[in-house]
Amino acid sequence: MIYYDKVSKVYPDKTVALDEVSFGVEPKEFVTIVGASGAGKTTLMRMLIGEEWPSAGAVFLESFNVHRLGKRDMTKLRRRIGTVFQDYRLIPNKTIYENIAFAMEASGKTDGEVASDVPRVLELVNLGHKIWNFPSELSGGERQRAAIARAIVTQPDIVIADEPTGNLDPANTYEIVRILQKINELGTTVLLTTHNKGVVDTVGGRIITMDKGKVIKDDREGKYIL
Ligand code: ADP
Repeated sequence: MIYYDKVSKVYPDKTVALDEVSFGVEPKEFVTIVGASGAGKTTLMRMLIGEEWPSAGAVFLESFNVHRLGKRDMTKLRRRIGTVFQDYRLIPNKTIYENIAFAMEASGKTDGEVASDVPRVLELVNLGHKIWNFPSELSGGERQRAAIARAIVTQPDIVIADEPTGNLDPANTYEIVRILQKINELGTTVLLTTHNKGVVDTVGGRIITMDKGKVIKDDREGKYIL
Protein backbone atom coordinates (compact mmCIF):
# COMPACT_ATOMS: atom_id res chain seq x y z
CA MET A 1 0.00 0.00 0.00
CA ILE A 2 1.24 3.45 -0.99
CA TYR A 3 -0.25 6.33 0.94
CA TYR A 4 0.15 10.05 0.40
CA ASP A 5 -1.02 11.78 3.57
CA LYS A 6 -1.74 15.50 3.07
CA VAL A 7 1.48 15.97 1.11
CA SER A 8 2.41 19.54 0.26
CA LYS A 9 5.49 20.72 -1.57
CA VAL A 10 6.64 24.30 -1.79
CA TYR A 11 9.89 24.72 -3.70
CA PRO A 12 12.47 27.23 -2.40
CA ASP A 13 11.30 29.77 -5.00
CA LYS A 14 7.82 29.52 -3.37
CA THR A 15 6.24 27.52 -6.19
CA VAL A 16 3.49 25.39 -4.68
CA ALA A 17 3.88 22.09 -6.54
CA LEU A 18 1.66 20.00 -4.25
CA ASP A 19 -1.12 21.20 -1.99
CA GLU A 20 -2.34 18.70 0.62
CA VAL A 21 -2.48 15.70 -1.68
CA SER A 22 -3.96 12.57 -0.11
CA PHE A 23 -4.69 9.23 -1.73
CA GLY A 24 -3.80 5.58 -1.39
CA VAL A 25 -2.81 2.96 -3.93
CA GLU A 26 -3.45 -0.71 -3.26
CA PRO A 27 -0.93 -3.38 -4.26
CA LYS A 28 -1.41 -4.46 -7.90
CA GLU A 29 -3.47 -1.40 -8.78
CA PHE A 30 -3.01 0.47 -12.08
CA VAL A 31 -3.38 4.19 -11.43
CA THR A 32 -3.10 6.91 -14.05
CA ILE A 33 -2.37 10.42 -12.83
CA VAL A 34 -3.43 13.01 -15.35
CA GLY A 35 -2.93 16.75 -15.37
CA ALA A 36 -1.54 19.60 -17.41
CA SER A 37 2.17 20.29 -17.43
CA GLY A 38 3.05 21.86 -14.07
CA ALA A 39 0.18 20.19 -12.20
CA GLY A 40 2.62 18.43 -9.85
CA LYS A 41 2.77 14.89 -11.27
CA THR A 42 6.55 14.55 -11.41
CA THR A 43 6.97 16.03 -7.94
CA LEU A 44 4.45 13.50 -6.66
CA MET A 45 6.35 10.59 -8.24
CA ARG A 46 9.74 11.83 -7.03
CA MET A 47 8.38 11.92 -3.47
CA LEU A 48 7.78 8.18 -3.53
CA ILE A 49 11.42 7.38 -4.32
CA GLY A 50 12.74 9.93 -1.84
CA GLU A 51 14.08 12.33 -4.48
CA GLU A 52 11.92 15.14 -3.14
CA TRP A 53 11.00 15.93 0.44
CA PRO A 54 7.52 17.06 1.42
CA SER A 55 7.16 20.51 2.97
CA ALA A 56 4.27 19.05 4.97
CA GLY A 57 2.56 15.69 5.19
CA ALA A 58 4.08 12.25 4.69
CA VAL A 59 4.43 9.47 2.14
CA PHE A 60 4.13 5.87 3.24
CA LEU A 61 5.02 2.60 1.59
CA GLU A 62 3.29 0.06 3.79
CA SER A 63 4.24 1.07 7.32
CA PHE A 64 7.39 2.94 6.27
CA ASN A 65 7.46 6.70 6.20
CA VAL A 66 9.61 7.12 3.08
CA HIS A 67 11.28 10.29 4.31
CA ARG A 68 12.25 8.82 7.66
CA LEU A 69 14.22 5.94 6.18
CA GLY A 70 17.96 5.70 6.69
CA LYS A 71 20.27 5.40 3.69
CA ARG A 72 20.27 1.60 3.61
CA ASP A 73 16.52 1.25 3.90
CA MET A 74 16.08 3.93 1.23
CA THR A 75 18.27 1.88 -1.12
CA LYS A 76 16.11 -1.16 -0.37
CA LEU A 77 12.94 0.83 -1.03
CA ARG A 78 14.29 2.12 -4.34
CA ARG A 79 15.02 -1.43 -5.43
CA ARG A 80 11.34 -2.21 -5.00
CA ILE A 81 10.38 0.56 -7.41
CA GLY A 82 11.18 0.55 -11.13
CA THR A 83 11.20 3.92 -12.89
CA VAL A 84 10.51 4.92 -16.49
CA PHE A 85 10.83 8.50 -17.73
CA GLN A 86 9.86 10.44 -20.82
CA ASP A 87 13.47 10.71 -22.01
CA TYR A 88 14.29 6.95 -21.68
CA ARG A 89 17.62 7.52 -19.90
CA LEU A 90 19.44 4.68 -21.61
CA ILE A 91 23.24 4.71 -21.58
CA PRO A 92 24.20 5.63 -25.17
CA ASN A 93 27.46 3.69 -25.47
CA LYS A 94 26.03 0.43 -24.14
CA THR A 95 23.92 -2.04 -26.11
CA ILE A 96 20.37 -2.75 -24.98
CA TYR A 97 21.65 -5.98 -23.40
CA GLU A 98 24.36 -4.05 -21.54
CA ASN A 99 21.95 -1.35 -20.40
CA ILE A 100 19.72 -3.91 -18.76
CA ALA A 101 22.62 -5.99 -17.46
CA PHE A 102 24.06 -2.86 -15.86
CA ALA A 103 20.86 -2.21 -13.92
CA MET A 104 20.77 -5.84 -12.79
CA GLU A 105 24.38 -5.80 -11.65
CA ALA A 106 23.73 -2.60 -9.69
CA SER A 107 21.02 -4.42 -7.78
CA GLY A 108 23.25 -7.38 -7.01
CA LYS A 109 22.13 -9.94 -9.61
CA THR A 110 24.54 -12.69 -10.65
CA ASP A 111 26.00 -13.17 -14.14
CA GLY A 112 23.79 -16.24 -14.54
CA GLU A 113 20.66 -14.25 -13.71
CA VAL A 114 21.69 -11.53 -16.15
CA ALA A 115 22.31 -14.02 -18.96
CA SER A 116 18.94 -15.69 -18.50
CA ASP A 117 16.74 -12.72 -17.59
CA VAL A 118 17.81 -10.06 -20.11
CA PRO A 119 16.60 -12.00 -23.19
CA ARG A 120 13.40 -12.97 -21.35
CA VAL A 121 12.50 -9.44 -20.32
CA LEU A 122 13.20 -8.16 -23.84
CA GLU A 123 10.81 -10.76 -25.24
CA LEU A 124 8.17 -9.51 -22.80
CA VAL A 125 8.40 -6.01 -24.32
CA ASN A 126 8.67 -7.36 -27.90
CA LEU A 127 12.26 -6.23 -28.32
CA GLY A 128 14.19 -9.50 -28.48
CA HIS A 129 15.43 -8.66 -31.96
CA LYS A 130 17.20 -5.48 -30.79
CA ILE A 131 19.19 -6.99 -27.93
CA TRP A 132 22.60 -6.23 -29.48
CA ASN A 133 21.71 -2.78 -30.84
CA PHE A 134 22.67 0.55 -29.32
CA PRO A 135 19.95 2.99 -28.18
CA SER A 136 20.71 5.34 -31.13
CA GLU A 137 19.73 2.50 -33.48
CA LEU A 138 16.23 2.21 -31.96
CA SER A 139 13.05 4.21 -32.57
CA GLY A 140 11.52 6.22 -29.71
CA GLY A 141 8.95 3.52 -29.01
CA GLU A 142 11.64 0.84 -28.98
CA ARG A 143 13.84 2.88 -26.64
CA GLN A 144 10.96 3.28 -24.26
CA ARG A 145 10.29 -0.48 -24.39
CA ALA A 146 13.97 -1.04 -23.54
CA ALA A 147 13.65 1.39 -20.62
CA ILE A 148 10.59 -0.48 -19.40
CA ALA A 149 12.48 -3.78 -19.68
CA ARG A 150 15.24 -2.28 -17.55
CA ALA A 151 12.73 -1.05 -14.99
CA ILE A 152 11.01 -4.43 -14.57
CA VAL A 153 13.88 -6.88 -14.92
CA THR A 154 14.58 -6.82 -11.19
CA GLN A 155 10.90 -7.61 -10.54
CA PRO A 156 9.97 -4.48 -8.59
CA ASP A 157 6.68 -4.36 -6.69
CA ILE A 158 5.91 -0.95 -8.17
CA VAL A 159 6.61 0.69 -11.53
CA ILE A 160 6.50 4.48 -11.84
CA ALA A 161 6.13 5.59 -15.45
CA ASP A 162 6.40 9.39 -15.49
CA GLU A 163 5.07 10.69 -18.81
CA PRO A 164 6.55 7.68 -20.66
CA THR A 165 4.66 8.43 -23.86
CA GLY A 166 5.46 12.15 -23.96
CA ASN A 167 7.77 11.80 -26.99
CA LEU A 168 5.79 9.12 -28.83
CA ASP A 169 3.22 9.02 -31.61
CA PRO A 170 -0.24 7.51 -30.98
CA ALA A 171 0.65 3.98 -32.19
CA ASN A 172 3.73 3.77 -29.96
CA THR A 173 1.84 5.40 -27.10
CA TYR A 174 -0.79 2.68 -27.34
CA GLU A 175 1.86 -0.05 -27.34
CA ILE A 176 3.57 1.38 -24.25
CA VAL A 177 0.24 1.56 -22.41
CA ARG A 178 -0.49 -2.06 -23.40
CA ILE A 179 2.92 -3.19 -22.09
CA LEU A 180 2.37 -1.37 -18.79
CA GLN A 181 -1.03 -3.05 -18.53
CA LYS A 182 0.58 -6.44 -19.17
CA ILE A 183 3.13 -5.78 -16.43
CA ASN A 184 0.27 -4.84 -14.14
CA GLU A 185 -1.60 -8.04 -15.01
CA LEU A 186 1.55 -9.95 -13.98
CA GLY A 187 1.14 -8.46 -10.49
CA THR A 188 3.04 -5.15 -10.42
CA THR A 189 1.53 -1.93 -9.12
CA VAL A 190 1.75 0.70 -11.87
CA LEU A 191 1.66 4.48 -11.45
CA LEU A 192 1.46 6.18 -14.83
CA THR A 193 1.48 9.94 -15.33
CA THR A 194 0.36 11.71 -18.47
CA HIS A 195 -0.99 14.99 -19.77
CA ASN A 196 -2.44 13.20 -22.80
CA LYS A 197 -6.21 12.77 -22.99
CA GLY A 198 -5.72 10.01 -25.56
CA VAL A 199 -3.81 7.94 -22.99
CA VAL A 200 -6.56 8.49 -20.43
CA ASP A 201 -9.19 7.31 -22.90
CA THR A 202 -7.15 4.20 -23.78
CA VAL A 203 -6.07 3.12 -20.36
CA GLY A 204 -9.32 2.80 -18.41
CA GLY A 205 -9.07 1.91 -14.74
CA ARG A 206 -8.49 4.42 -11.99
CA ILE A 207 -7.76 7.99 -13.07
CA ILE A 208 -6.55 10.63 -10.61
CA THR A 209 -6.79 14.16 -12.01
CA MET A 210 -4.45 16.86 -10.72
CA ASP A 211 -4.62 20.59 -11.20
CA LYS A 212 -2.28 23.18 -9.69
CA GLY A 213 -0.92 20.76 -7.11
CA LYS A 214 -4.27 19.41 -5.98
CA VAL A 215 -6.12 16.18 -6.63
CA ILE A 216 -9.37 17.41 -8.14
CA LYS A 217 -10.84 14.05 -9.12
CA ASP A 218 -10.27 10.39 -8.25
CA ASP A 219 -12.25 8.38 -10.70
CA ARG A 220 -12.41 4.61 -10.13
CA GLU A 221 -13.67 2.87 -13.24
CA GLY A 222 -15.95 5.80 -14.01
CA LYS A 223 -17.19 6.37 -10.47
CA TYR A 224 -16.64 9.72 -8.84
CA ILE A 225 -14.87 9.48 -5.47
CA LEU A 226 -13.88 13.04 -4.68
P1 ADP B 1 4.19 18.06 -13.84
O1 ADP B 1 4.98 16.80 -13.73
O2 ADP B 1 2.71 17.84 -13.64
O3 ADP B 1 4.49 18.82 -15.09
P2 ADP B 1 5.95 19.15 -11.80
O4 ADP B 1 5.85 18.33 -10.57
O5 ADP B 1 7.12 18.92 -12.69
O6 ADP B 1 4.58 19.02 -12.62
O7 ADP B 1 5.95 20.69 -11.40
C1 ADP B 1 4.97 21.26 -10.55
C2 ADP B 1 5.32 22.72 -10.34
O8 ADP B 1 6.52 22.81 -9.59
C3 ADP B 1 5.57 23.50 -11.63
O9 ADP B 1 5.11 24.82 -11.43
C4 ADP B 1 7.07 23.47 -11.76
O10 ADP B 1 7.53 24.58 -12.50
C5 ADP B 1 7.50 23.52 -10.32
N1 ADP B 1 8.79 22.86 -10.07
C6 ADP B 1 9.14 21.59 -10.35
N2 ADP B 1 10.38 21.32 -9.92
C7 ADP B 1 10.84 22.48 -9.36
C8 ADP B 1 12.06 22.85 -8.72
N3 ADP B 1 13.07 22.00 -8.57
N4 ADP B 1 12.15 24.13 -8.26
C9 ADP B 1 11.14 25.00 -8.39
N5 ADP B 1 9.97 24.71 -8.97
C10 ADP B 1 9.81 23.47 -9.45
